[in-house]
Amino acid sequence: MRLDGRTAIVTGGAKGIGLAIVRRLASEGAKVMIADIDEAAGSAAVDAVSGDGEVRFTATDVSERLDVHNLVAKTIDAFGSINALVNNAGIVHAADFLDLEEADFDRVMGVNLKSAFLCGQAVARHMVEQIGNGEEPGSIVNMSSINDTFAIANQVPYSVSKGGISQLTKVMALSLAPHGIRVNAVGPGSIMTDLLATVVDNAEARNRILSRTPLGRIGDPSEIAAVTAFLLSPDASYVTGQTIYADGGRMPLNYTVP
Ligand code: NAD
Repeated sequence: MRLDGRTAIVTGGAKGIGLAIVRRLASEGAKVMIADIDEAAGSAAVDAVSGDGEVRFTATDVSERLDVHNLVAKTIDAFGSINALVNNAGIVHAADFLDLEEADFDRVMGVNLKSAFLCGQAVARHMVEQIGNGEEPGSIVNMSSINDTFAIANQVPYSVSKGGISQLTKVMALSLAPHGIRVNAVGPGSIMTDLLATVVDNAEARNRILSRTPLGRIGDPSEIAAVTAFLLSPDASYVTGQTIYADGGRMPLNYTVP
């Protein structure tokens, strides 16, 4: 119960890694607001997780400033404060560089990168106000990827957005450190979700990933949720500005298949 009495927003929390994070934070005592564009999945997630703790849902397009302001207001109405934010919502768009449309580039950047700025700024402004009222500083986690470093040829805006997330994490950490607010990122490798299924849709692609993953398996969303909960918790009280890779060893061991 490291997050007992704390409140959190999880973007993209209706499915996949986000839903696993919601479950984990609730089970550690946090009240959680799910912010997701998929209303049906959001309501289903509330029903599925409510047994673990207090969980609510606000329909939100995280790339839209007015939606983000509505989300922050609704969360404060519901819980009275915001102690934690997980910028997790993300999408992919496959296209070769020469064929990529401007609108698709903008859409992926909006959901994956601009959203972390919009949500991060709106929530951090509220956190700074709370600190002025005597509350403890909060903490923010941004969802990055091993693709912040490894480029994928047909995932141009995705790779660029994740590179941006890791740099945004450092800038936010620096800017908010004087207030005691910590900002970190998690960099998953290949994790079994709908998003991965759209990218890895055949046995050959799956085997290619496994051949490059020292632990030799695809990860589970709960394994990303565990790292996220650690970063938000007092156990990580001296950690800020970091991207922690939970990737079965791909990034640190970076080995070549013989
Ligand atoms: P997912 O597709 O299973 O879930 C993404 C969620 O985001 C969905 O609930 C979706 O409705 C929501 N969403 C999409 N657009 C949104 C918007 N505009 N506003 C609000 N919500 C929106 O994906 P996932 O695999 O769980 O990915 C979660 C995060 O983890 C993403 O940032 C992704 O880039 C990152 N990641 C995933 C993997 C992986 O292998 N699955 C690897 C590295 C990084």
